[in-house]
Amino acid sequence: MIQDIAPHVFNNQYKNKKPAPNNIVMYYQRDTVLMRRDEYGAPVFPRFCDLTEKNSLQEVSKWESAGDIYENSTYLFSVDDEEFFLIEQLPETMIIPEGFAMEKISDLVNRDDHYPQFVAVTGRQLCDWYMDRRYCGRCGRPLKKDLKERMLYCECGQIEYPKISPVVIVAVVNGGRLLLSRYAGRAYKKYSLIAGFCEIGEPVEDTVRREVMEEVGLRVKNIRFYKSQPWSFSNSVLMGFFCELDGSDKITVDTTELAEAEWILREEIPLEEQTGNSLTEEMIRLFQEGKDPFKQV
Ligand SMILES: [Zn+2]
Repeated sequence: MIQDIAPHVFNNQYKNKKPAPNNIVMYYQRDTVLMRRDEYGAPVFPRFCDLTEKNSLQEVSKWESAGDIYENSTYLFSVDDEEFFLIEQLPETMIIPEGFAMEKISDLVNRDDHYPQFVAVTGRQLCDWYMDRRYCGRCGRPLKKDLKERMLYCECGQIEYPKISPVVIVAVVNGGRLLLSRYAGRAYKKYSLIAGFCEIGEPVEDTVRREVMEEVGLRVKNIRFYKSQPWSFSNSVLMGFFCELDGSDKITVDTTELAEAEWILREEIPLEEQTGNSLTEEMIRLFQEGKDPFKQV
């Protein structure tokens, strides 16, 4: 899955510090990140010492009036000994270093190496959070960064932590068959599992029951937690559950959410191209290989 970056070690503990020239710069424009490719095609993010600017004579030089950009960056996280910092906006005099360009984070998927996509999308989630939380939603004053933890606060007492929305991913098992679905109106056309956001005041197990009932009109029992996964593409944490059908197997598709849903025999689950980064993919594969919790021996 995307967070599996071993032997690298991700450390998201907040530090109140400013960057050194050899630290990594994460700069985003919507769904793209500033990077270049090495000779093997692997993504490389810039370091502060890579940044260049145009001086008053329009000559390109190493970043000299570095004070601003070092001062205005925000510590994100570290991986091993590498520290990553966010720059929300590039100063006007700065130019994109030679060889670097904005590339789509979704294009960084690589089933053999999740590290670049994981750091890019995790940084993007934090970038969005900082940019969306410049002002207090209660009184309108500018929010300030806390020095001890990753938190924003206002003089009026309002505080903000990073936005993480809980989502359930549900594999409904009916003997040797699995419920697979496809989304309506999305570019993503592969088979999926039932999925949905937890509502306010709702235990996660109830989210599982509600989403299955809403999307396909089925009742479920024996809900078993499998694994969770941070999914920064949608500011989410995904919680994967296996459960068994309870009662009728008649599917009633909610066509506003799903294009189709059907029971597929274990042996007939199509071998779709695997990105290796998603919990949904891992759960479908687990069932396909007969390793789900309800496999009858
Ligand atoms: Zn306020």
